[in-house]
Amino acid sequence: LAAALLAATLSACGQEAKGGSRYEPDTGKGATIGLAMPTKASERWIADGDNMAEQFKKAGYKTDLQYGDNKVENQIAQLENMITKGRSLLVVAAVDGSALTEVLQRAHDAGIPVISYDRLILGTENVDYYASFDNERVGRLQAQYIVKKLRLGKPEKGADKHNIELFAGSPNDNNTKYFWNGAMKVLQPYFKSGQLTVLSQQTRMNQATTLDWDGGTAQKRMDDLISKNYGSDRVDAVLSPYDGISIGVISALKSAGYGSKSQPLPVITGQDAELASVKSIIRGEQTQTVFKDTRKLAKQTVAMGDAVLNDKKVSVNNTTDYDNGKKTVPAYLLDPVSVDRSNTRLLVDEGYFRAGQLK
Ligand code: BGC
Repeated sequence: LAAALLAATLSACGQEAKGGSRYEPDTGKGATIGLAMPTKASERWIADGDNMAEQFKKAGYKTDLQYGDNKVENQIAQLENMITKGRSLLVVAAVDGSALTEVLQRAHDAGIPVISYDRLILGTENVDYYASFDNERVGRLQAQYIVKKLRLGKPEKGADKHNIELFAGSPNDNNTKYFWNGAMKVLQPYFKSGQLTVLSQQTRMNQATTLDWDGGTAQKRMDDLISKNYGSDRVDAVLSPYDGISIGVISALKSAGYGSKSQPLPVITGQDAELASVKSIIRGEQTQTVFKDTRKLAKQTVAMGDAVLNDKKVSVNNTTDYDNGKKTVPAYLLDPVSVDRSNTRLLVDEGYFRAGQLK
């Protein structure tokens, strides 16, 4: 019966039990889960890794947590190692969503299921589920905030004009286009009406990307945008997809003289509610961020993993939007929340930060 159940589990995950009982001891409670996270350079991934390790442990599993230092080859080597060691499930937040086809084929051949974490893995059938936040909504929340803060109202010709510059995330991260598309859906009508202008004319996503989400790279680009396009004009808003980018943008703006009564900083969005940015919001520098509670994502992923390993029904709430080029990956998407100075309190109330940390 156990063998039959195992076979059913594996076939439900799209795999076949091969080689007798090789995977048997590894399924169910007590198994070790491989957690492949992209980088420690950003707080959120440290929190994601820690939260998942803690919650998988609570659910009775062991974990093998690895960080790829934003290098594709590191992450691939880490995944290969996990496969060799016979990890029972891989949870992967990809450094580069398109670079894992071969290694995930090996995972598949070894009968190991894969959950794509936060970022969708592309170009392979060997990804079973996707757990993330509603990425397009993140972009919409950022853009809607800009529209509200600049008091643009309904799009109309002849209304006040404002200048905006646009930043996108890392070109190798599949989330980047969802954030961007969500934001553009909201901003496009205002470009059309003439209420928003991008003086640099860098309005296409591939002109606005920021490799590895790097704040220093964003700072340099912003320096450049200001010096080449903003002689006597002012930047009124910056669409930034991530807090680390926002911090870089703010540094560039300050070097160019922004941040005083006569020349206030523009509206600047962000994402992740990282501590430095939440403090910046409280100080009145960065204007907004999008809070994605990594504890909830970890919880969802642990529930998914537990169901996969025990042949239980995996709960998903989106089976249409996340096509990775080879299959539409069944997904569970959580809701992101817009945070500005008026509701940073929420982060304390939810226990994400202690009140003392925000002082
Ligand atoms: C995540 C964001 C994060 C970004 C940079 C994206 O894939 O969804 O939450 O800001 O990576 O780490």
